[in-house]
Amino acid sequence: CGVFGAVNVQDAANFVALGLHALQHRGQEAGGIITHHEERGFQSAHRFGLVRDNFTSAKLMETLPGSIGIGHVRYSTAGSKGATAIRDVQPFFGEFSMGGAAIAHNGNITNAEAIRRELIERGSIFQSSSDSECIIHLMARSIQKTHAERLKDALRRCEGAFSVIAMTRTKLIGVRDRLGVRPLVLGKIGDGYALASETCALDIIGAEFLREIEPGEMVVIDAKGVVSSRPFERTSPRFCIFEQVYFSRPDSIIGGRSVYETRRQIGVELAREAPVEADLVCPVPDSGTPAAIGYSQESGIPFAMGIIRNQYMGRTFIEPSEQIRNMGVRLKLNVNRALIEGKRVVLVDDSVVRGTTSQKIKQMILEAGAAEVHFRIASPPTTWPCFYGVDTPERSKLLAARMSEDEMRDYIGVDSLKFVSLDGLYRAAGELEGRNDSCPQFCDACFSGEYPVAPSDMIERGFEL
Ligand code: SF4
Ligand code: MG
Repeated sequence: CGVFGAVNVQDAANFVALGLHALQHRGQEAGGIITHHEERGFQSAHRFGLVRDNFTSAKLMETLPGSIGIGHVRYSTAGSKGATAIRDVQPFFGEFSMGGAAIAHNGNITNAEAIRRELIERGSIFQSSSDSECIIHLMARSIQKTHAERLKDALRRCEGAFSVIAMTRTKLIGVRDRLGVRPLVLGKIGDGYALASETCALDIIGAEFLREIEPGEMVVIDAKGVVSSRPFERTSPRFCIFEQVYFSRPDSIIGGRSVYETRRQIGVELAREAPVEADLVCPVPDSGTPAAIGYSQESGIPFAMGIIRNQYMGRTFIEPSEQIRNMGVRLKLNVNRALIEGKRVVLVDDSVVRGTTSQKIKQMILEAGAAEVHFRIASPPTTWPCFYGVDTPERSKLLAARMSEDEMRDYIGVDSLKFVSLDGLYRAAGELEGRNDSCPQFCDACFSGEYPVAPSDMIERGFEL
């Protein structure tokens, strides 16, 4: 998901809508905005679909007045059951003795089911099926005197991954879990401030990027400025390495590094680790493009657009139903036949999850007359599901959990298939010594099976580590 907030700006809702539009790659199912205005109080709108199809109408935006606002774009992840209902769409709002507050959450709370059970037994009335709703109910039960203190109380009970943006009548609050699994950044715009999942959402509104919210940090922001605190026990951070590979936008800056540059460097590592003789290096667009550029630069094999993407399709993976996702590949990608015919092609993609994409692409590219097809993947084999806010299927559906690399090569039906090593990926992400196995610098559980936080709800449901 993507989160965005702005405070002390004129017509905050417009900034929030723009910020969410820049974060649309993080969630395309639905979006919501809440604002506060001195006279008209809290106002909200929650809609299915894209930001540009909803939060651009003057009629709707007029219903969201005020100089403070937050918003959320949603894609449903591991914990969510069934289809999204409009009441699952964030931000969530609650009335407290000291006034209303709203929250928008990116990540996944891994003990949310246990918390929910306990709260329901004690009388809480849940509205949604979302793990994030726990936060509002836990805040309601806290005895602290400010929203920020209540939010701290609530989040101290939550395990897993959370980058949260909250708002009260006058204050914008940002928090990251102590591992800092999901991103969150702070920007300055005029006399106001903005919080966003990624820096690309600051760029779109012309805000200056100040810094990242640190893992385990809370910032409380109002017209007077930013107050920082450290509500959680300190530990070494474990940022999601898959944000670097796929999830974030390539024009965002993470950890002081360009995501594009990290991805290009993954391609360089891949070319060193898994060279092959070929005529062309082609990306599977768009997610494989920067790595393909790196592979081409390092290997000297010319880069070419052998597969063309229909720009009017969204991210295939984020389509919740398997059927749509299966169709999706052809709706979204087509082979550039004139270029491919008779050529030995290196295809670069970011990841193999179920293997559906690679299989379909291989088929299209052979039909177009390619002489050889070599797959190079810009992440290690995905062998474990994510429980921290990225939607991966259950383990039995992960190709790499069932097959060796050679079996996957034969199953997909290509001449060769190679994945970047975990160390290569770490080097590309700026860790020149590679992965520190005794204390890894990132979360890489979907590749290594080493979960930095035990996914307790899932373990209770029978998931075996
Ligand atoms: Fe990211 Fe993978 Fe960790 Fe999930 S399990 S947070 S996708 S690195
Ligand atoms: Mg892709």
